[in-house]
Amino acid sequence: MNSRILAVGSMALDSIETPFGKAEDALGGSVTYFSAAARFFAPVSVVAAVGKDFPAKHLKLLSGLGVDTSGVRIEDGKTFRWKGHYGFDLNSAKTLKTELGVFATFKPELDRAQRRSKTVFLANIDPDIQRAVLKQVENPSLVACDTMNYWIGGKRPSLLKLLRRVDVILCNDAEARELTGEVNLVKAARWMFAHGPKLFVVKKGEHGVICFAKNFTFLAPAFLLESVFDPTGAGDTFAGGFMGTLAKAGRLDSATVRKAVIYGSVLASYNVESFSLKRLISLKRFEIESRYRQFRKLTEF
Ligand code: AMP
Repeated sequence: MNSRILAVGSMALDSIETPFGKAEDALGGSVTYFSAAARFFAPVSVVAAVGKDFPAKHLKLLSGLGVDTSGVRIEDGKTFRWKGHYGFDLNSAKTLKTELGVFATFKPELDRAQRRSKTVFLANIDPDIQRAVLKQVENPSLVACDTMNYWIGGKRPSLLKLLRRVDVILCNDAEARELTGEVNLVKAARWMFAHGPKLFVVKKGEHGVICFAKNFTFLAPAFLLESVFDPTGAGDTFAGGFMGTLAKAGRLDSATVRKAVIYGSVLASYNVESFSLKRLISLKRFEIESRYRQFRKLTEF
């Protein structure tokens, strides 16, 4: 099966403050983190828009990592910008500012090859854009999406329409509660299954991940780190390792999904060790495998 992943999402310039430092206009965005992680497992083609102010070196960097960036449109206007702040609880970011820039008017158009994609990842962005991409894909076999409070609050009807066509949804626990209206995550899973997805992945920051399927549930802790520097992109990086593993395997059975959760957690654990995509860029395959083995030891009983 063709394992190439078609991914749409934000490509951004992030300004971030954590208790350990800050960065201005650093390379970020949901699809950026996603593709930098997923490329270890499967080829990735990205659909996004940036403004003329987006440094060309960022696109070069992504193509240098093997990501197909031919679907990134450079448009008149400004790049998406996100400003976030983390306190000592690094599990949740406080959004200080979101500037959609060119994403406010972005109309994605897929080429012939992209339309034939089998695996589609709709990274966090306007659900109207996620749906516009999905509508153009002829016969996808695996569709996953991510989202966040910004869109759950602002574009709920569109998000609910999207959910009907999605196999897998990933979001953090607060977003899951906001979307489903259920405080309890087991009940939230039932709500998800009734609204489209058959797999519901709840990201809980340093407390790990709960993956609900209709016939099994899998819990994994986050990899134990001594220092977390910047959690930005942890969720998208997790999604990259997770979806990359599923696309490579071409299956959605319990053993594959469990393995995908651990690879996702390994990738996320590396990403949070430094600002922006710094650690993902220097990351090597053997380091991923080494932490994957440590994960097994950490959770064996
Ligand atoms: P994460 O930490 O994995 O949840 O994602 C962080 C990334 O999401 C940052 O690099 C931001 O640029 C991007 N981001 C923040 N807000 C939004 C939004 N409303 N839509 C799309 N992407 C966003």
